[in-house]
Parts: sequence; C-alpha cells; structure tokens
Amino acid sequence: MVTSGQFSEYVCPLCQVPFSREDLKLLSVEHVPPRAIGGRALVLTCRACNNRAGARLDTAMVRHDRVLGFALGQTPPDKPINARIQVAEHIVTADVAATGKKVSLQVVPRAVNPLGLAAFNDAVDKHTAAGTLKVSVSLWAERYAERDLRNGWLRAAYLVAFAAFGYQYIFDPALAPVRRQLADLDGDHIRDYFYIDTSADRATRMLARVREPACLWVQMGRYIVILPPLRPKPDFYTQFDRVVLESAQKRGDLAFNERPWPQGPEHRFDTP
Ligand SMILES: [Zn+2]
Repeated sequence: MVTSGQFSEYVCPLCQVPFSREDLKLLSVEHVPPRAIGGRALVLTCRACNNRAGARLDTAMVRHDRVLGFALGQTPPDKPINARIQVAEHIVTADVAATGKKVSLQVVPRAVNPLGLAAFNDAVDKHTAAGTLKVSVSLWAERYAERDLRNGWLRAAYLVAFAAFGYQYIFDPALAPVRRQLADLDGDHIRDYFYIDTSADRATRMLARVREPACLWVQMGRYIVILPPLRPKPDFYTQFDRVVLESAQKRGDLAFNERPWPQGPEHRFDTP
C-alpha cells in the first residue's frame, strides 16, 4: 500500500475503494468541516461517499452550529434563524438573532397574513400592559438528529486525521469501527468520542496527541472528537475511558502534543 506522496491510484479513505486516474470524475474534493461552518477544501473522497453523507450529516452540523450560536448569544448578524414565535394562541414566523442577552425578531411579512400579524401585535400589547407577556420561540426549521451530528463530526475528524497522517493511520485495524460507524449511520458502533465545548472559539483548529489516556484530540471550533492514538491498540474503542480523560482535563493535567493542522490534500494523483 502506498502511504504517502503521489501515486497513480487513489483509495477513497472512507469506503477503501481504489480509483485509477481514468476514474477522476468519480472523486470530489471535500470541505472539512462543511463550508458553511468555515471548512476548507481538504481531502478527496469518492462521490458516492461524499453524496451519501453530505446532505444528511452536513445539515445536522450546520443546524446545530446555528442553534448553539443562538443559545450562546452569538448569531452572526447576517445569518438570522427562521423561528416560530408564539404569544398566547397567536403564532408568527420571524427571523431571530441573539447578540449577548438580547434577542431581536424580524417578522417575515410574506409568511404571515396581515390579520394574523395584527392579532399577534394586539396580544403582545395586551400582555405587555398586564405584565403577563410570555413569548415562546421555536427553532422548528433547525431540527436535526443527534446521531447525525455525532456522525458528521466523527467523519470530519477522520478526514482531518487522514489528511494529516495518511493511510497508514486511518487504515489501521483500530480505526475500522469508525468506518463501520460511518457506513451505518443509523447504528451505534462506537461511543464516547464526541464533546462540545461551548467556551471554545469557533475558529479553533487543534490536532493533538494526548499522552494519558492515549488518544488523538481533533477539535474544530466548539466540537471535539476523540480518535485512537497514532500507534493504536486494536481494542481502543472498548478500552477507552472517557471518565479518565474528563477528570484529567478537569485537573488541568492533560498533556497536548500539538500537530500542525493539515492545509490540503497530501494524498492525490501525481500530475502527468
Ligand atoms: Zn468512498
């Protein structure tokens, strides 16, 4: 197996199917993480793998990022979220954005009939005057499946590890459970590998080896995925203890050995 550099056959890092130079159109460049969350072109995957996960997992990642941004009061001003606002029995659709503790609403006129909007406004006035105003905001258009979110970030971290360490690492038998998980998006083949750190900066990119417990830490913004260490033991996923990791982190004695974040595809066809 070719482990680095340039070669005339390319193996998709996800499905392990080899593609020759004539099959180039069957491959596509993937943004990791998805472009909508600040990702950049990083690796080649086959179109089948790209399409299969793309819509479903990317959607969950992008939606979660928006909802979390809203909850943290960090909605980008140019990207409000579509929401359903309810006061008493009156409902309108609005674009909402959160900045710090302030939430701003902009009713979407074309989505609300004028009579409905008048009744909504009356209800707001009436309840404000009575001191009983209760507004509920539902981010109904931003629903996502928790498992798709986890799988999406697992996939992104796996592709980052491929870009940084190549086939030798990702095709180690210890990584097979990851591919199994990504091939069966409705199954639960591995667990305890995904974290969210709400205090992290969205622009954070960190690829680091953790010595104890031995693992690879892949962080993109607020999302952290734990992968097997560079010289993995085959039973990593049954032996890894998240509690040990979390308590080491809490004590502040987690030793990170940072590696440079990959800048682009190291593994590609050579130019003829
Ligand atoms: Zn593939």
